[in-house]
Amino acid sequence: MDILAFLRERAGAFRCPMCRRSLADCKLRQLDHEGQKYTVEVTCRNCELAFLVALELASSDDTESSEDEEEVALVGRAEADSDPISNDELLELHRTLSEHSGPLTALLTERAND
Ligand SMILES: [Zn+2]
Repeated sequence: MDILAFLRERAGAFRCPMCRRSLADCKLRQLDHEGQKYTVEVTCRNCELAFLVALELASSDDTESSEDEEEVALVGRAEADSDPISNDELLELHRTLSEHSGPLTALLTERAND
């Protein structure tokens, strides 16, 4: 699975926690990949805020090729690697992602409809 393409498709549902611009055109860089775990650096093109997103893919038994059915669990949390951020929206994003246990696609659909 191309994790960067996966994130790219869905990044538009999120806003930068710093400048609140859509992350649709953010920079994505895969930092690490171990088994089903991926660490991706996301950088806002507007304010250059960079944070890390850790993803763990849960492999489905028999729906390998069905992208919409992919179960994706976020096992880490986004961490700004510049100045500490005390932004309610970022905290909310952390909380949402760390507590979410269903398909990531469902989460993103919910947020896009806010
Ligand atoms: Zn930004």
